Amino acid sequence: MAPSTLCTRLAPSPTGPLHLGHALAFVGAWTLARRLGWRVILRLDDLDAARVRAGDADPTETLRWLGLDWDGEPVRQSSRMDRYVAAMERLADAGLVYRSPHSRSEVREAARALGAPHEGEIPNRFPATLRPPAGAAWGFRDHMVNHRMRVDPGTVRVRDALLGEHVMEPEREHGDFLVWTKDGVPSYQLACTVDDLELGVSDVVRGHDLLASASLQQGIAAALGRPHPNWWHLPLVRDAGGRRLAKRDGTEGLPGLRAAGVAAERVRGLVGWWLGIHPLEPASPQALVAGCLPERLAQAARDGITATPPSVKPAIMDWLRGADMGTDTLAHHA
Ligand code: GLU
Repeated sequence: MAPSTLCTRLAPSPTGPLHLGHALAFVGAWTLARRLGWRVILRLDDLDAARVRAGDADPTETLRWLGLDWDGEPVRQSSRMDRYVAAMERLADAGLVYRSPHSRSEVREAARALGAPHEGEIPNRFPATLRPPAGAAWGFRDHMVNHRMRVDPGTVRVRDALLGEHVMEPEREHGDFLVWTKDGVPSYQLACTVDDLELGVSDVVRGHDLLASASLQQGIAAALGRPHPNWWHLPLVRDAGGRRLAKRDGTEGLPGLRAAGVAAERVRGLVGWWLGIHPLEPASPQALVAGCLPERLAQAARDGITATPPSVKPAIMDWLRGADMGTDTLAHHA
C-alpha cells in the first residue's frame, strides 16, 4: 500500500510541563491519525527562547510516556528560520506586511479611541488607524521590529471537521496581526502556518482555543498561494472551578502525575473517556485507536465545547491515582 499523503502533527511548546489538556489534544490527534492511517510529525514550537525550558519540561519524553510515537525525526522550529524569512519576503512582495513598532498601550489607546468593542470583537483588537500609509514602513527589511499582516474586511469560512462551519470576520475580530516579532522570530501564526504548509500537514488536530487562529492561518496560506489544512478542534479541559488548565506543574501537570505514580494507561483511559472513544478504564494506545470513530469524536467535541466540558474534578484525580469508581460519580456534568 502506498504511504498515506495525509499527515498531522503534534506541536508542543517546550515552555513548561504538559498538563491533562495537552494530553487530550495530543492523544486525540495521535489516535485519530493512527486510526485513519495518517503520518504523524512531532514539531517542537521552540521559538519563544525566553520561555523555553529544559529538563522535566521536555515534552518529547512526556509524549513517549503517554505511548505516542511519530514518523521521522522531530522538527524544531528554531532550525527553520530561513523558511519563515522566505515567507515574510513573499508577503512583503505582495504588499501585505508592515513594520508596527507600537507598544501595547498605544494599541490599547487607539482601540479605546474608536469606542467600545462591538460584539465578536476582541478587546484591544489592532485598529486599522494604526496601519501606516503606503511607504517605507511596508515591507520586511528590519528583522528586529514587530511586523503585522494586513487583514481586509470580510468574512472567512472555517470548516471544522468535527464542529462544522464557522463564519468568521478576522478584520473585526483581530485586525492586522503580528507575523514577526521584535525578538527576530516569526509569530506563532506565521511559523505554524508555514510549517503546516511546508511539512505537508493535511490535517491539524488541536485544542479549541486555536479555532479563532484558523481564520488568520487560512489568510496566511491564501497569501502564500497554498491551500490550508483541514481543521479538527478538540475541547479544552477545565479545572474543578471551570477554568481552563494553565501550564504549571500543579496536580494536573503530567510529569508531576507520573512522578506521583499515576499510570500512563489511566491518563489515556481518561482522555479516551473525555473523547467518547473509550470507557473510563485504563487504556492501551491500541484500544483508543480501535474506539476512535470520527463520529464519536465529533459528538464529544460538540458536547465538550457546549454542554459538558471535560473537567478535572477531585474524583477524577482519585481515579487517576488508582481508585476504582463508577462513571456515575464522575459524570462530566455533575
Ligand atoms: N505550540 C502550540 C501550542 O502549544 C501549538 C499550536 C497548534 O497546534 O497550532 O499551543
